[in-house]
Amino acid sequence: MAKRKIAIIGVGKIAQDQHLPVIDASEDFELGATVSTRGLGHNGVPVFKTPGELYAAMPEIDLVSICTPPGIRHQYVREALDAGKDVMMEKPPTTTISELDDLVDHARRLDRVLYQTWHSQYNAAVDRTRDILAKDGVKSARIDWRESVRKWHPGQDWVWEPGGFGVCDPGINALSIFTKVMPFPVFVQSAKLTFPANRQTPVDVEIEFKSGQIGKPELSAGFNWLEESGEIWTIRFETGTGDIIKLEGGGRSLSVNDELILKHGDGEYAAMYEHFAGLLERGESDVDKAPMRLMSDVFLMGARENGPEFEW
Ligand code: NAP
Repeated sequence: MAKRKIAIIGVGKIAQDQHLPVIDASEDFELGATVSTRGLGHNGVPVFKTPGELYAAMPEIDLVSICTPPGIRHQYVREALDAGKDVMMEKPPTTTISELDDLVDHARRLDRVLYQTWHSQYNAAVDRTRDILAKDGVKSARIDWRESVRKWHPGQDWVWEPGGFGVCDPGINALSIFTKVMPFPVFVQSAKLTFPANRQTPVDVEIEFKSGQIGKPELSAGFNWLEESGEIWTIRFETGTGDIIKLEGGGRSLSVNDELILKHGDGEYAAMYEHFAGLLERGESDVDKAPMRLMSDVFLMGARENGPEFEW
């Protein structure tokens, strides 16, 4: 089958690190154009300043992958759907649940495919963890998500603006794994959000979850954005039968009682594009709202503290 032409909207860090190389290597997609306010292209494809210019000039491109910050995504996705495009969206999907609901409804009304990507939802270690927890139950869970904002979001001031999520931008990746593998719903009991005194979004977050389950499993998470020793992207579970399950490397490796069971490489973006190709084939949308709901509740329930100022 001929490759499907896709356009990238927003040629920033994640588009350059992941989307463009994965499309270059894809059997399903080929890059047709980019939309970049700074005029950044790739491999000589046409470059447009706005999505509207792309849609007018190249109507034959009917797929877009939107890699901008979340604050402008609702507007860009609506515009794409209205132009008759099928759409893949980076995470976090939008800045509010109302916007996400609207996009899902709008895509359904227009009979378009809308795919909300979540990291690590398509990997065997995460699927195996979900199966183990479904069988054995959960006595406790602890998420530790620590990384350096200077390494992963260098100079990106939008992460510190309202709607920029702060450390909850990577933290929502943890929640997207958590909500996928947990065998019962979880809710935010309390949260403490520490903001740099000169910024609008948190740099450190501690969350206690509740579940309404008999036995009251202990469930908590900590996100931190000033970790310079390397990434710690770990979720540790104690099952109802006393086994210790550890998902490390952002869901890439699984160990049970310290024995490595599964480990795989960095194929998450290739897997996401493969999944998008399947959705297009079947004419289906895929938007899991659970991580966004839980993260919104963190902001609703969170107590705020001011910490030291942040400078790049
Ligand atoms: P980024 O480097 O700041 O890139 C975003 C790009 O969007 C900008 O370079 C710009 O590209 C375009 N853009 C259009 N309107 C914009 C506006 N009003 N403000 C800022 N940029 C605008 O950010 P990123 O790290 O690629 O993140 C983009 C999305 O991917 C975010 O939702 C983020 O959570 C997600 N993500 C990031 C990472 C990571 O490690 N950084 C990992 C996974 C997912 P043009 O100049 O080409 O228009």
